[in-house]
Amino acid sequence: MNVVQPFIHGAKYWTPKRILDSGESSGRPSGQLPGSHVLDLSDLKKALTLCDSCLPKFDSKTAGYVTKKNLPLVQGRCDGCQEMTARGHLLVNKEFADLM
Ligand SMILES: [Zn+2]
Repeated sequence: MNVVQPFIHGAKYWTPKRILDSGESSGRPSGQLPGSHVLDLSDLKKALTLCDSCLPKFDSKTAGYVTKKNLPLVQGRCDGCQEMTARGHLLVNKEFADLM
């Protein structure tokens, strides 16, 4: 059995670009269903970007998500279908809605 040891980078490794890149999502893993990916993100209370066709498929009230009034539309990759959208909907968890 192979045991993977954690590797800790030194302070010089963490440039501003690497810090930004570490927060970028790699997208949905191949083989995972879109709904499962969106639910995984919502379990982690991450912000979601959904296109017009994926938005009605996500039960935002049950998951505790709201749409920010000051950010009604965003550009980016839909977390459901993984397509780029110019008019995506940003959903954030209720806990963090007042902090943004
Ligand atoms: Zn979509």
